Amino acid sequence: MPYTLRKVVSFVALAVLLVVAELLTGVLGTSDSLAGPRSAVSKGMSAEVMGVYFTPPTGAAGAIVEAIESAQQEVVVQAYGFTHNGIAQAILRAQKRGVSVRVLMDEKSRTTNQYVIDLLIGDSVPYRLDGKHAIAHNKVMVIDTQIVVTGSYNFTNAAETRNAENVLILRSVELARAYRENFEQHWAHARP
Ligand SMILES: [Zn+2]
Repeated sequence: MPYTLRKVVSFVALAVLLVVAELLTGVLGTSDSLAGPRSAVSKGMSAEVMGVYFTPPTGAAGAIVEAIESAQQEVVVQAYGFTHNGIAQAILRAQKRGVSVRVLMDEKSRTTNQYVIDLLIGDSVPYRLDGKHAIAHNKVMVIDTQIVVTGSYNFTNAAETRNAENVLILRSVELARAYRENFEQHWAHARP
């Protein structure tokens, strides 16, 4: 599968600050008040940047598939849009080789995501739909409680071939724990 990628492996605290800033943005939103609960994520944590990908050109999907292929124990997925067959097939293959897989999707995007939902149902992959928010807009994978895949990139063909997107792949047990805890909160109020 031909794809161009920039693979950067280094400890870059700045990248993590960007992620934390995104988390805080989600908490603070457009509220006038700065009070209220904030992310429990430490601002000072560092993570290894496994990869940074921009579309165009195409190629981020290949990097995401590689990350899924590397999973040995668990993959949890939070998706808004999920229509990309190659990424979906990687999820199915992971479950077939014994990896624990769960997929959480935006409830209001059910129709758009129906193709992938049917694939998940066909292979009995646990999935739930989150309808508790205006939109469940997270695009996150947490792999083996140490790798976090996130960014603007929906797991869709449009993101891969038509949009301007970014994907960041990070290795940090602490960061993965924070994202996984957030996943569990949404999983708990989502439904099949
Ligand atoms: Zn939720």
